[in-house]
Formats: sequence, structure tokens, C-alpha cells
Amino acid sequence: MALEKLAEKYNLKRPEVKTVEGKIDGYYVNITDDNVVKKYYLTFNVSGIADKKEFEKFLKELEDKNSSIWNVKYEKNYIIVEVSQKRSGFNHFKELKEIIEKIITFFKEKNYKSGCGYCGLEDAENIEIAKIVDQRVHICENCFNKEKRRLDERREEMLNTKENIFLGILGALAGSVIGGLTNYFMVFSLVGLLTIILSQVLYSILAKKTSWFGVIFPIITSMICAFGGYYLKHSDGTLIINDQVYVGTGFILIIGIVIGIFMKKLSKGDFLVIEKLYKN
Ligand SMILES: [Zn+2]
Repeated sequence: MALEKLAEKYNLKRPEVKTVEGKIDGYYVNITDDNVVKKYYLTFNVSGIADKKEFEKFLKELEDKNSSIWNVKYEKNYIIVEVSQKRSGFNHFKELKEIIEKIITFFKEKNYKSGCGYCGLEDAENIEIAKIVDQRVHICENCFNKEKRRLDERREEMLNTKENIFLGILGALAGSVIGGLTNYFMVFSLVGLLTIILSQVLYSILAKKTSWFGVIFPIITSMICAFGGYYLKHSDGTLIINDQVYVGTGFILIIGIVIGIFMKKLSKGDFLVIEKLYKN
């Protein structure tokens, strides 16, 4: 595995199965393998950049000239390089190593520093790898506490938001009716898919919070409207229940439950996590 080899080569530690982290030539680095989206996320802490334009030009060239690099993001005092696993060829280790060397060589040449990924201070206290929402980055104690407070407040705010069931119902109905009307242009399986996505998402946006009611209600309205549209389209006596109808109905049920539960979690702020990867 590429991560194992990288850990060995650069003397990195492995706080999680899919993550290696440490310092390469004095630069804080973290490499995470996300095999759900088939990408590697390479995080480098970098600060003390004298010429921002030159730095951004380097990042842009890095992205343009390496076919395996999907995206490069520059935030606060760190960069995230997204590497596509599909475009990394047969030898992922070699590909990642080349990218790492390119970046570190440039950093060293320009005499950039590496400190806390948030505040950028090199001599900040206890710089440690932390998981912040979906990212892993080395930050100092001070920034960790600040960020934890901010996320806690945000979660508290979300928990205290009341579900506007009335607007949610309107959203679910609007989504279902629009979806149902597409019966005139599409096969039923796609109608089912579109109808449930529209009504579930509109419920969540308008209600500002999703309860179990918000999970179930759009499923019911989607079914009624999707079938209603189908029935109207075939009201001339050509009504048949074929495989498309079964698949479409399955979509409404399964997608409805999946998106609904996802929205329910999202509206509770469950994703706003911050934790240190090495727990003492
Ligand atoms: Zn900091």
C-alpha cells in the first residue's frame, strides 16, 4: 500500500489506518486515503510566504501539469492537494512521492516555513494533527480550542433551530408535484428518482431542520405525485405496471430513506466534529 511505503520512506506516523502524518524536511504533512471517493488528500502546512502571487502560480501549475492532481486548495496556512487514485497509474507510491518532492523542493527553495495550519505560528504550542469536520490538519492548542468553541456554538445553534413543518410540507409538495409532472418527458424510474430528491431536499431547505416526519412525509407525497403523474399520462387506457414502475418506486423508498436520514443528521450538526487524532 502506498501509505505504508510513504510512512517508511519519510518516517511518518500512522494515527489512523488510512492516515499518515508527520514532518518532511520540517514541513507538517498529512496524507489521507479516502477510498470512498478514490482520492488521496495531501495536506502541507505552509507559512511565511513573501510573494503570494508566485505561490499561487506554483499551485496552479502543480494542478495543471500533473494529470493525477484533481484539485489544489489553499486555506489559512495550509494547502490541500487532492490526488485522484484512478489517474495515479499503477504505482501510487511513486506518483505521490513525486508530488511530495515537487512541493517540498519548492517550499525549501523559497524558504517557506511550516507552523500551525490555522494561525501560521511556527513556535505555537502543541502543534498536533486534528480532525476538523472532514479535514485532517496540524494545528496548535490555541487554534484547536478556538475552533472547538466555534463548532460547538454552531452545533448548539442548529440544535436550537425549530423545524418549520408548515414550510417543509410546502417544499415536499412542490418537489413532488414538479417531479410528478416530469412523467410526460421521462421514464418512470427517473421520475421516481427526481421526485424524491426534489421533495426531500426542498423539505430540508424550507423546514431548516429534518425530523422523522421530514424523512417520511416527502416519501409519501413523492409516491402519490409520481404515480399520479404516471396515471394521468396513461389515463387513455394504456396503464401498465412494468419494471420501470417497480424500479422507480424502489428509488423513492430507498433514496428517500437515505437522503432523509442524511438530512436529519446534517440538521443536527453531527458532522461538526473536531478531535485530536492522538488521544491521550
Ligand atoms: Zn494556531
